Amino acid sequence: MDLEKIKAVILSLPSEKRELFMSELIEELPKADKHIEVQASRRHILDNKMGSCPHCNHTKYVRFGKDKSAQRYKCKLCNRSFTEYTGTWMSGLHKKDKIDSYLSLMLEEKSLDKIKDTLKINKKTAFDWRHKILASFDSKNDDNQDDFTGITESDETFFLRSEKGMEVKRSPLQKTRR
Ligand SMILES: [Zn+2]
Repeated sequence: MDLEKIKAVILSLPSEKRELFMSELIEELPKADKHIEVQASRRHILDNKMGSCPHCNHTKYVRFGKDKSAQRYKCKLCNRSFTEYTGTWMSGLHKKDKIDSYLSLMLEEKSLDKIKDTLKINKKTAFDWRHKILASFDSKNDDNQDDFTGITESDETFFLRSEKGMEVKRSPLQKTRR
């Protein structure tokens, strides 16, 4: 669907529905962007000594070189090292540089095939990332990456919508497993 068509559809709505749609959209947009910003803000928090060690929660740590493209830190209390990704769903992922683009395409509700072709990643990677991202929506909190029990309404809407979109792709896999 191109933008002109979307615009035409929105303009053809009765004004009451159009207002409802626009107000929902305005509410959803900043929340969708937020997920993409989470990782950048995590690095910013760690670099500005406002974070804590993901292993022991101690707040004193030092920069400790680089791990591939990630910044590494070392805790002054437990002496263990960690990166900006430790404890997040992105920990252990390769091709981290493609994740921002992946999230954008996912938020645009592109199909897995479209995403894998655009980013030149294989289908299993595309599938795995989707699972990890959706799972992280369930557990992510900007202030505390570990124990997040609540879920905001917008996350839930997006989660359910994405799950629905996945059903077709997921069922053949489940069948072959049995
Ligand atoms: Zn520590």
